[in-house]
Amino acid sequence: MLDVQDVRKAYDGLEVLKGISFSLCKGETKVLIGPSGSGKSTLLRCINYLTVPDAGRIYLNGEEVLDTNIDAIRARIGFVFQDFNLFSHLTVLDNVRICQIKVNGKRKDAATERAHQELERVGLADKAGAYPAELSGGQQQRVSIARALAMDPEVLLFDEPTSALDPELTGEVVRVMQQLATEGMTMVVVTHEMSFARQAADEIIFMENGYIVEQGSPEIMFTDSRQERTRAFLNVIA
Ligand code: ADP
Ligand code: MG
Repeated sequence: MLDVQDVRKAYDGLEVLKGISFSLCKGETKVLIGPSGSGKSTLLRCINYLTVPDAGRIYLNGEEVLDTNIDAIRARIGFVFQDFNLFSHLTVLDNVRICQIKVNGKRKDAATERAHQELERVGLADKAGAYPAELSGGQQQRVSIARALAMDPEVLLFDEPTSALDPELTGEVVRVMQQLATEGMTMVVVTHEMSFARQAADEIIFMENGYIVEQGSPEIMFTDSRQERTRAFLNVIA
């Protein structure tokens, strides 16, 4: 479904991705962990060219992601940001509908129906008419997930979706992600929520300093990690 091959990125001569390769099958959830500054966000952003990689190749369902097809590819890769990125001047309904209409070219009635479906799926059927500022952070993040889902993505990327939330609001967002993982959504999730990683991840990837240090199933990573660095990180965080 997604194949990332030897992706590299430097900022001002400083390499922050030093040859990253991994792949993701349909229906898989991979959780990406690692210290701050290890390159997790840069890697996610490179996958859909929000940041253009210096080298390497990325394939979505066999089609290479390139400058020339990036608009079409972006419509197939959903991205959920730490800070929600909702349009503050639009209602919840319009936030979930606008890309369906402007990017996917859907008719308004079809987009509206789908928006209501996805809002229901994330538990916000009653908030369609609200504005983002009237919602809690957890609710805003769930709207942003509904917006991504309404685009029928082949892959969903999450960059620390609960990091901007008060602790009591992370659970409602984690539960939605867990439900998506169970339903077979294909996703890459950068998160510090280790309970989510344990329960939902098919594989955990540990990144440090621009490299993938280790990857494996949650059972192996949490109990029998080969790498001292992974163990040290998990001891602090888990
Ligand atoms: P993480 O998400 O793991 O915390 P990032 O991918 O955000 O790591 O950052 C990796 C490194 O790249 C950091 O040293 C960061 O300062 C640097 N970096 C990220 N984005 C930029 C940018 N736009 N310009 C310059 N340096 C950047
Ligand atoms: Mg980051």
